[in-house]
Amino acid sequence: FLPHLVASMEEVEETYIMIKPDGVQRGLVGEIISRFEKKGFKLTGLKLFECPKELAEEHYKDLQSKPFFPKLIDYITSGPVVCMAWEGIGVVASARKLIGATNPLNAEPGTIRGDLAVQTGRNVVHGSDSPDNGKREIALWFREGELCTWMPVQEPWLIE
Ligand code: UDP
Ligand code: MG
Repeated sequence: FLPHLVASMEEVEETYIMIKPDGVQRGLVGEIISRFEKKGFKLTGLKLFECPKELAEEHYKDLQSKPFFPKLIDYITSGPVVCMAWEGIGVVASARKLIGATNPLNAEPGTIRGDLAVQTGRNVVHGSDSPDNGKREIALWFREGELCTWMPVQEPWLIE
């Protein structure tokens, strides 16, 4: 089984997914994690975490000049978040599809935001928007020893 897994390594990406404080408060942690699990992606990092203001500001630094920035930082730091690193072929764009549009009212049914949220300012989950940002954000939110390298037993049944 192993040679084909090595061959597919080039397409393997990583993405940072975060359940925002509203998702934690509303008891949606299990529901959200299982959508990525069922799709077939590999969880490589997971923690419940109270995000310091400085980290929230660094994470969202591209949005610094937006009028909603202060409210966004208050929102992300208002309670624990669930930080996750996920790995897989095409995981960055695929996770964004599973998450749905930024405004939950525009998000398709079947997506996390489409099914579970109504407002942009309470859209329950974050997902990296590019492979480079996936790497950047995982490095920002996790320390080295917090990530796991492992091979799920299902992998040969997911990847041909
Ligand atoms: N956001 C907001 N108001 C807006 C746009 C964005 O409160 O008008 C928040 C929202 O929580 C969103 C986050 O800022 O998820 C980051 O915005 P981005 O455009 O990167 O959306 P995402 O990548 O999360 O879909
Ligand atoms: Mg974004």
